[in-house]
Amino acid sequence: MRTVYVNGEYLPENEAKVSIFDRGFLMADGVYEVTSVLDGKLIDFAGHAKRLERSLSELDMPHPEVLPDLLEVHRELVRLNGIEEGMIYLQITRGAPDDRDFVFPDPETTTPTVVLFTQNKPGLANSPAAQKGIKVISIEDQRWARRDIKTVQLLFPSMGKMMAKAAGVDDAWMVEDGAVTEGTSNNAYIIKGNTIITRHLGNEILHGITRAAVLRFAKEAQMQVEERSFTIAEAQKADEAFITSASTFVMPVVEVDGVAVGTGTPGPVAARLREIYLDESRKAAV
Ligand code: PMP
Repeated sequence: MRTVYVNGEYLPENEAKVSIFDRGFLMADGVYEVTSVLDGKLIDFAGHAKRLERSLSELDMPHPEVLPDLLEVHRELVRLNGIEEGMIYLQITRGAPDDRDFVFPDPETTTPTVVLFTQNKPGLANSPAAQKGIKVISIEDQRWARRDIKTVQLLFPSMGKMMAKAAGVDDAWMVEDGAVTEGTSNNAYIIKGNTIITRHLGNEILHGITRAAVLRFAKEAQMQVEERSFTIAEAQKADEAFITSASTFVMPVVEVDGVAVGTGTPGPVAARLREIYLDESRKAAV
């Protein structure tokens, strides 16, 4: 049984409780982060902590008292649960007022709810999917307009994963005004020659922590990076494609809407980026 963290306490998972009036539950009024663990250490913790603070600020959500100590809480959960490879899920909501109300509760009387738990994933870095690559379909992006905030409103991405599953593939890339925004839970990229193309930052996509790291490593390895939108047709004609996220690292995409990308097998550039990302991230892990 896992030991989880709820509002200052480390508890067995079946004893952890949150109010039915919690705004995370009633209104999806909450934000989250997922940080990977490799070799028992946290990958890019500082990046996730910084984005978390930004998500809280963008939603005028009070910063919980534990915020400065979150690294210690993460480490303690890794220790208590003996995690070598896996993820730490963290969620902060606006808390639980006495009743349901659209108006934000008074932060003096309603404090944020903070929950963290571990997800043990032995073999995360050695995933067979990375050898095979994944297949995606395109779907219309029907999410709200502030995708740069990492909120727990994940119903549409969840529906997108189900559409992918129904189509017999692994994931979906979302398209808005003819251009790919991102994957249901990852950033999307294509490779043409020595150039890596991924959508520019804005409110339309989540500013991936893995994205920032991978683009930095790509530039250091003398690859060209173009941050601009691209279409599904362009992806189908690309040499390679891939996705990034904290839990998949760099994952090759070998098919888009039934059309093979490049040779239809994972390409050398994505493989190299995955290797660099894993090596450098392990070195910098805390
Ligand atoms: N886009 C979306 C919509 C996501 O949900 C995620 C993962 N949470 C990402 C991109 C990748 O972000 P990160 O690299 O920080 O995990």
